[in-house]
Amino acid sequence: MKDLKFILGPCACESVTQMEEVIRTISVPNVPANTLIRASLYKPRSSYGTFEGLQSEGASMLNNLLGEEKISQIATEIFDARSLQICVDYGIKNFWIGARTTTNPFSVREIASELALLDKNKIKSIGIKNPTSRDLALWYGAYQRICQSGHKPYLIFRGITTGNSAPFRNEADWDFVFQMKEKINDQSVQFILDPSHIAGDRKYVLPLTIEGLRTGLFDGIMVETHPNPEIALSDAGQQLYLDKLPEFVKTVNKHWLEIQRNSSDCNFDTERQAIVELDNEFYESLQKYLNTRRILSDKIGESKAAHSKP
Ligand code: PEP
Ligand code: MN
Repeated sequence: MKDLKFILGPCACESVTQMEEVIRTISVPNVPANTLIRASLYKPRSSYGTFEGLQSEGASMLNNLLGEEKISQIATEIFDARSLQICVDYGIKNFWIGARTTTNPFSVREIASELALLDKNKIKSIGIKNPTSRDLALWYGAYQRICQSGHKPYLIFRGITTGNSAPFRNEADWDFVFQMKEKINDQSVQFILDPSHIAGDRKYVLPLTIEGLRTGLFDGIMVETHPNPEIALSDAGQQLYLDKLPEFVKTVNKHWLEIQRNSSDCNFDTERQAIVELDNEFYESLQKYLNTRRILSDKIGESKAAHSKP
């Protein structure tokens, strides 16, 4: 059975106290130890005049708060080479390219070029969100560009912005993810579900998580959580209450186990393998029988010929 990957944390890194609370909650036994802590420092917002992140000051703050070792648990969004350089300089190692950035091939190319120049041990993971529109070529193009940098990216599905996805913020088009998987055709590439941005409302986050995981398309989830979502500076309505997070993780893991158990019950891998082995044994003994029969017939033939018996 595979463990589900978790990337959990606020939409945006806002303050030391907020991040201290998040880190404390994510360090409880219910939450797997390899969980990445989401903390966006750069927020390319659609609406003008809204909070655009703490940027380099936030990166410095996280570095002071966590130190070199613990900061490697942080994952943050980047949108160009400079934002990547700044975060790397402060010891951050996990990144993802946001949906708005994926829509711009030149930005992705710039990030890929920077990734190629950076020391490999400075980068632990790089994710790519699907673009806001239903454009598979853009997502796939971004994937190929990042692969060119020498890193194998993972992919994050945040739904598709159609303006027509009520009651959700974005459309949960699972077939779009399926198509991307087919195009990539590499089982080792991980897919992460972002139910927070599909939902747009915290009450839909758990049901969307379960529905998404049931498709069998995903290896993990990225979920937004905040100690006090009412005063969050971005995406207030969709962030889970931090104090409910351990329970959420427990529930999701319970479903994940059940989903995995059902799929291993249903795929009959063991039975299929046994049939293959049985077939092989049968063909081997058939081959043996035919060979022995041929040798005996040849012997009779040769003996008849030697004694000129018709
Ligand atoms: C986010 O991760 O907070 C975000 C802005 O998401 P997206 O890029 O999917 O819109
Ligand atoms: Mn967000």
